[in-house]
Amino acid sequence: MSTRELAAFGMLPTEIAVARSYGTLQALRQGWHCEFVLPDVFRTAWRFGGPLACISALSMHEGRARGCADADIPFDEPLHVAVPRNSVGSPPAELLAERWGIPVSHRPVLHWGTADALSGDRRAVSAETARQQALRCRARDETQSGREAARGSQTREG
Ligand SMILES: [Zn+2]
Repeated sequence: MSTRELAAFGMLPTEIAVARSYGTLQALRQGWHCEFVLPDVFRTAWRFGGPLACISALSMHEGRARGCADADIPFDEPLHVAVPRNSVGSPPAELLAERWGIPVSHRPVLHWGTADALSGDRRAVSAETARQQALRCRARDETQSGREAARGSQTREG
């Protein structure tokens, strides 16, 4: 929840600070808080910039369809994260490692786009948006591995 939403519920800044110090609310990133019970995967995604996107969001939607609780759904690394265009961006992995203990190797794949980031709920983009992102993401990966293969053959020839 954003600080603005908490204020709209009538929480004063001092009450937010008290809730944080008692651990019922936890800071996610500037202006955003979550309940202490939120599963780690969503907390991590938000620290990177927003809700789950792409194949990470598909894992969540498929898990929910099988009847899994969000906390029990397995997620592959790296997480794919939806970041609104007007966001300040994803903090450096080194900062997240220092502040929250998130390993630097967990650097996410970011999907920029405000409409996509708002398409689902606060945990993940909608299933349809996730499918579209995954198609584009796979295409990008293939382009990249094709380029790397071409570079590799040039190196071998040289
Ligand atoms: Zn992706």
